[in-house]
Amino acid sequence: MMRFIMACCCLLGMIGPVAAEEVYQFPDDPDEAEFIANEVIATFYHEMGHALIDVLQIPVLGKEEDAADTLSVILMHDIWVEEAATAILASDALTYALRAGDTTQAPDLSAYADVHSLDIQRYYAVVCLFYGANPEVRKQLAIDLELPEDKIDSCPDEYQYARSAWDTVLQGTEPGPDTYGLVMVEGQEGMPLADLLAAEVESINANFGLPEPVYVVVQDCGEANAFYYPDDKTIVMCNEYAQDLQDLW
Ligand SMILES: [Zn+2]
Repeated sequence: MMRFIMACCCLLGMIGPVAAEEVYQFPDDPDEAEFIANEVIATFYHEMGHALIDVLQIPVLGKEEDAADTLSVILMHDIWVEEAATAILASDALTYALRAGDTTQAPDLSAYADVHSLDIQRYYAVVCLFYGANPEVRKQLAIDLELPEDKIDSCPDEYQYARSAWDTVLQGTEPGPDTYGLVMVEGQEGMPLADLLAAEVESINANFGLPEPVYVVVQDCGEANAFYYPDDKTIVMCNEYAQDLQDLW
């Protein structure tokens, strides 16, 4: 879930048909499969945040990872109807809660130095923003997800600030005859993760026109992660990431 400044050698020349490799298959259990699909979508929206920051040359004041998390919540809220959006947010929050583990224990020092905020901070941040986007409807959700009472009070404002910042930098990005969009790299059709993302690509392309194409590929990465590579203008979703979510479940 990082945006690498340096190009990764193994990704150079990867824009083209995808070579045969392990194909991730969703588990049979519908709840488990839904959790994995939802979190893959939430993470894809996060990587979309990195991609927008890059191709639109958006200045980032503060942590870029936090900005990408914010855009992820905005896209959940904008693209999906209430029930589905809530399910995606719940999966996203659950992932952070599980990764945070026992919060009575201090995290490793390396976690404080990470480009990402702590998992438990990311948990509260996404729950707060999602609640704040529609507080009349989502109050019980905020309570169920144990957002502290004083935090609940400030979330609608926090959402409005974040929303207006993103809206400002996304002004003029409507799709048009001279714009590009996300492009699924060829040769992935029929792969369940790629098919899931292809539907997201369609939704995002209906909302955003980009000054250049941004490619989307699902592949083996050798680690459970997702990336945006600015040099290749490519979002990479790793098969191992979905497998890791399955293990987490
Ligand atoms: Zn990231």
